[in-house]
Amino acid sequence: HAKADGRGTFRFFEPHMDVQLQARRALEVDLRKAAANGEFELFYQPQININLNEISGYEALLRWHHPERGLVPPAEFIPVIEDTGLIVTLGEWILDQSCKEAAKWPRNIHVAVNLSPVQFRNRGLVQSVSRALVASGLAPNRLELEITESVLLQDNEATVSMLHQLRRLGVRIAMDDFGTGYSSLSYLRSFPFDKIKIDQSFVREMSQRSDCLAIVQSVANLGSSLGMPTVAEGVETEEQLRQIQAAGCTDAQGYYFGRPRPARELVHTLEALRQTARVA
Ligand code: C2E
Ligand code: MG
Ligand code: MG
Ligand code: MG
Repeated sequence: HAKADGRGTFRFFEPHMDVQLQARRALEVDLRKAAANGEFELFYQPQININLNEISGYEALLRWHHPERGLVPPAEFIPVIEDTGLIVTLGEWILDQSCKEAAKWPRNIHVAVNLSPVQFRNRGLVQSVSRALVASGLAPNRLELEITESVLLQDNEATVSMLHQLRRLGVRIAMDDFGTGYSSLSYLRSFPFDKIKIDQSFVREMSQRSDCLAIVQSVANLGSSLGMPTVAEGVETEEQLRQIQAAGCTDAQGYYFGRPRPARELVHTLEALRQTARVA
């Protein structure tokens, strides 16, 4: 009987894994067609300088309009485009598109673009960034590249050297999702970042958990000692805004100020942003 049960269990799991694998293959097939079919779009979310109370820039966030499934969240498809290597050509499109868009904005407003660790394994990255700047005419200091700690996980010389080459182009480098890695502080030593983005998980729990508040305050102090602006991610309420202000963060990003929106819907002042929020 034990044998029969064992076989039963085995049979039960096999088709299940098959279904997962098939779903994954289908996703890959759809993703390979997506770029050619124009299904990708960049949305832009405002970043606010909370001392000046002004929009300082926008983060470009990738969106996929699937023909049948509608909007698919990045968390679901970015790992797949990374695994399949599609991120390399798509990443070039993201850089080109976001620089072209930002070139139309007021000159004091920057664009922040996320780079995947996979893009750093490709030697052409620095050239892609440089090409996007030249093609769009965007001043390099208006482009900010956001990288997560995972880019520096292997802390190899090639990655750090690419970061220096990017910096030499005149672009800024921000550390994204700070505090979620295994040794966040040591990453700050590997490269002199221009900005720290405090992960939204700390901001979300700050009001209920004093340890999260203490972490946000410490990172803001650290940024200030190192001369780096600190952005609090995921600010959703006025209370959170007050807390990050008191903690000494310099910038904020989150639904409280605005959700990511298509380029054509952007407005460039906080007042106009509040107007659209009231209308929406
Ligand atoms: P990220 O770079 O940390 O981007 C911030 C994420 O937080 C975005 O999710 C944004 O929509 C979300 N967010 C912003 N404010 C709030 C808030 O107040 N509350 C909550 N709950 N969420 C907020 P999104 O657009 O789903 O992107 C998720 C992640 O996917 C990004 O995290 C980034 O790691 C990756 N990603 C998105 N676009 C790109 C891209 O163009 N290239 C690469 N390589 N990665 C991208
Ligand atoms: Mg980011
Ligand atoms: Mg982040
Ligand atoms: Mg993230």
